[in-house]
Amino acid sequence: MNAPPTAQAKALAALAAAMPEGTLLTADGDVERYSRDWTGDHYGRPLAVARPRTVEDVSLLMRHCSAGGIQVVPQGGLTGLVGAAVASHPAGEVVVSLERMNRVRSVNSIDFAMVVEAGCILEDAKKQAEAADCILPITFGAQGSCRIGGNVATNAGGFNVLRYGMTRDLVLGLEVVLADGRVWNGLKTLRKDNSGYDLKQIFIGSEGTLGIITAAALKVFPKPTQVETALVGVESVEKAMELYARARRECSDLLTAFELILRGGIEIAINSPGKLADPLSQPYPVYVLIEASAGGRVDLRSLLEGFLTDAGDIVLDGVVAASRAQGEKLWLLREMMVEWQGRGGRYLRTDVSVPISSLASFVSEAIEALGESHPEALPVTYGHVGDGNIHLNVVPPEHMGPDAVETLFHATEKIIFDVIDRHGGSISAEHGIGKVKQQAFLERADPVALDLAGRIKDALDPSNILSAGRILAARSISGNG
Ligand SMILES: Cc1cc2nc3c(=O)[nH]c(=O)nc-3n(C[C@H](O)[C@H](O)[C@H](O)COP(=O)(O)OP(=O)(O)OC[C@H]3O[C@@H](n4cnc5c(N)ncnc54)[C@H](O)[C@@H]3O)c2cc1C
Repeated sequence: MNAPPTAQAKALAALAAAMPEGTLLTADGDVERYSRDWTGDHYGRPLAVARPRTVEDVSLLMRHCSAGGIQVVPQGGLTGLVGAAVASHPAGEVVVSLERMNRVRSVNSIDFAMVVEAGCILEDAKKQAEAADCILPITFGAQGSCRIGGNVATNAGGFNVLRYGMTRDLVLGLEVVLADGRVWNGLKTLRKDNSGYDLKQIFIGSEGTLGIITAAALKVFPKPTQVETALVGVESVEKAMELYARARRECSDLLTAFELILRGGIEIAINSPGKLADPLSQPYPVYVLIEASAGGRVDLRSLLEGFLTDAGDIVLDGVVAASRAQGEKLWLLREMMVEWQGRGGRYLRTDVSVPISSLASFVSEAIEALGESHPEALPVTYGHVGDGNIHLNVVPPEHMGPDAVETLFHATEKIIFDVIDRHGGSISAEHGIGKVKQQAFLERADPVALDLAGRIKDALDPSNILSAGRILAARSISGNG
């Protein structure tokens, strides 16, 4: 005899019946691709996957989930990597994939604004901006997979933060479905609006815990007609920072990227299956990948070449790309380094930040501390200098057993975070907190900030059905999660 359906099963059946046909997937084969993140490190089989097509669908879904006490987790392109976007609540969660809400609703090249649905892949949104002779400047390695809603929910940065700011700086308005199903239509494209609280800020970087973002109004910019790329070798991170400080002033703030890569990273790229050539005539301890862009009335190439010549006391060697294609080859070094740093296996990822003025000390202190305690591990260091956002990753020795690898990751992360604390930095500058960084976040959080965050969570999601247990521990909120 079949067991009677549980309350959860009844609520799910009611949800399936209420939603437009084809919205809810439940079969193992259908939900598999929504169960694993980009790396495969985080897995969680959802109770079901909802794929709404409209904001009304999301609203209906949330009304039912709220009434039935069904836990929900919004999902974008699964590139967040902190265990926040896959199902994991002990009682099970319904994943809400925004992938079918993927339209660009408008691009306005006079307002320099576009309105994009949350499920639009970042790269597709960028292409549509370009079709209107504009750029959406959010740019990073996962742009072919991540989605606008995920970018807003994690306040993504990337290579161009230096010039254009991070996602938070680019959001003009949001449309959000709240836990109880109400829709907040804040999709304004106004540049200035001082009428009351700036509510969108609460949802940016909230990692799905406060509402489901269904669309965003974003700033776009005139498309540059000139882009110049250079790769230079310098003696140390200190020298790279000296070059950065000069470049900000002497290149009329036309820099769009200033990427730091230590030699170990270049070696990973040139030894990857792509077999890229060593980019300069001999190896240097530290490399900087520089990009500048401008419109028509500036001789950008002369500006960059002149700057690098004048900085001859810092720059040991360098190449300015002769063409776009050569520029892309220089960027390929950065890409291949990221792709191959784990030699196909697991490695410790960190995405920390420090004040830009502390970046050189942070890198040298952390690498020294790692070398003293774990000489067997390989640190791989690179990052976006313009926002002080550094990856100091740790690759375990080949053939190390899984338990030893876990112990190594734990110990080396603690070492890196201790140095971050000494410099007043952040343990998470990219991927967010999710579940993976929660303990480290809570250990460091200001009690007043935690109290305020808990109250905001309670106010917006009193039954704690949205992404429960991400960022805030269940115990620090008064809901039932
Ligand atoms: C190779 C690589 C390079 C990266 N480089 C950078 C970088 O340079 N700078 C940087 O800042 N970050 C970087 N990231 C991290 C980046 O911030 C995230 O990958 C991206 O913004 C997440 O988008 P996603 O669509 O994949 O979201 P997901 O991973 O699916 O979700 C991330 C979080 O957002 C929530 N969420 C997703 N959609 C919504 C929605 N519609 N409403 C509410 N919540 C939602 C999820 O619940 C989860 O908490 C990189 C990641 C990778 C894999």
